[in-house]
Amino acid sequence: MKTIALLGSTGSIGTQTLEIVREQRDLRVASLAAHRNIDLLEKQTREFLPELVCVYDEERAKDFRTRVSDLFVKVVSGMEGLVEASSVESAEITVPAVVGMIGIRPTMEAIRAGKDIALANKETLVTAGHLIMPMIREYGVRLLPVDSEHSAIFQCLQGRAGNRIAKIHLTASGGPFRGFSKEQLEKVTIADALRHPNWSMGRKITIDSATMVNKGLEIMEAHWLFDVDYDDIEVVVQPQSIIHSMVEFEDGAVIAQLGTPDMKLPIQYALYYPERRFLPGKRLDFSAIGAITVEKPDPMVFRALDLSVRVGKQGGSAPTVFNAANEWAVAKFLGGEIGFPAITEAVETALSAVPFIDNPSLPEILETERLVYEVLNCQRL
Ligand code: NDP
Ligand code: MG
Repeated sequence: MKTIALLGSTGSIGTQTLEIVREQRDLRVASLAAHRNIDLLEKQTREFLPELVCVYDEERAKDFRTRVSDLFVKVVSGMEGLVEASSVESAEITVPAVVGMIGIRPTMEAIRAGKDIALANKETLVTAGHLIMPMIREYGVRLLPVDSEHSAIFQCLQGRAGNRIAKIHLTASGGPFRGFSKEQLEKVTIADALRHPNWSMGRKITIDSATMVNKGLEIMEAHWLFDVDYDDIEVVVQPQSIIHSMVEFEDGAVIAQLGTPDMKLPIQYALYYPERRFLPGKRLDFSAIGAITVEKPDPMVFRALDLSVRVGKQGGSAPTVFNAANEWAVAKFLGGEIGFPAITEAVETALSAVPFIDNPSLPEILETERLVYEVLNCQRL
C-alpha cells in the first residue's frame, strides 16, 4: 500500500490520478486539495476518505466543513492548509497537480518533509528549479516527472548506465494553430484556442499549448530535471503525439518513448516507478497509424519558444517573469480581455520592465510575480 498526497485533485491531472487509485486498489489517499470546486471535492472525499482536505478558498472551506461533518476528516484552507496537505505525515509521495506558481511552497515543504514528488506542476520547477533541485538532493527524495514529454525522457534514460545525454528531442504536437501565420493568429477566438487536437487538459495548459508557451516551459523543465544545457534541447513538432520525446546519446543512438496520448501512463509510471503496471486503454496499432511525421516549429510565429530559451539561459528571476506574465495573460485572454497575440506580447513587455534578480530566494520569486502583475495591470495590450 502506497499513500499519496494529491494537490489539485479536481483538475485534469488530479482526476486522472484518482482514476488510477480507483483502478489499482493498493494506493491510499492521505490528503486532497483544490481551490473552489467543492462539489467534486466532496464526492472525492466520500469515495477516497482522506484524513485531510484543503479547500484553498476560505469561504468555501467553511461550507465544505459543514458538508463533510459526518466524516472523520480535517478541513484546512489557504496556503498554510495547502502546505499541510502536501506534507501530511502518512503520505510517501506528493503529487503537485495544481496549476501555476501556487505550487512552489507546498512542493518545497513536501520535499522538506521527505516526500517523493510526482511533479505535474511544471510552473514550480520553471520558476524555482534552482531552489528545488538542490533540495531534492539534500533531502534524498525522488523527483518523478508526470509531464508526458519528461516522463518519456525519464523512461528513455532507464538503463543509461551513466552515459551522458548528448541531446534531448522534445516533442510538441504543435497545438491547434500549427501551420498558422501571424495574421491568422490575430483572428483566433478563445474557443479555437481551447480546441487541442490530441490532448484533453486543463484550460490554462491548453492555451499554453496553443501559444507554444507550454513547450517553452517544458524546455526549462527539462533543463532542470535532466541537467541538460539549453543548446542541447531541440523542439520537434510531432503532430500525431505518438512520440512523446527522445534522447540522443554520444554515439548518435536515439531512444524514443511512444504510446497513445494518455496522461494516465506518465502519472502511473511516476506513482509506481520503477514498476510498470497494467494500464487499461488503447494500444498503438502500427498497421493503422500509417505515418509518424515530424516538422520544425516556426519560431517567427511562435515567439515563445526562442524567448523561453533566452530566459532559461539568463536564469535568475527571468523564468519567473516569463511564467508569471504568461499566467496573467492567459487569465486575461480566457476572460475575453485581451487577444491571442497579446499573450506573448505581455511576456515580452514584462521581461523588459521587471528588474532582474540573480539567484532569487522564494520571497524574491513571489515579489517578482507580484511586480509582474503590477506592471501588466498598468499596461494597455
Ligand atoms: P486544471 O486546471 O485541470 O486543474 C487545476 C487544479 O488545481 C484544480 O484541482 C484546481 O482546483 C486546483 N487549484 C488551482 N489553484 C489552487 C489553489 N490555490 N489551491 C489548491 N488547489 C488549486 O489543470 P491541469 O490538471 O490541466 O494541470 C495541472 C498542472 O499539471 C499544471 O501545472 C499543468 O501545466 C500540468 N500538466 C497538465 C497536463 C494535463 O494533461 N492536464 C499535462 C502535463 C502537465 P479547482 O478545481 O477547485 O479550481
Ligand atoms: Mg507536456
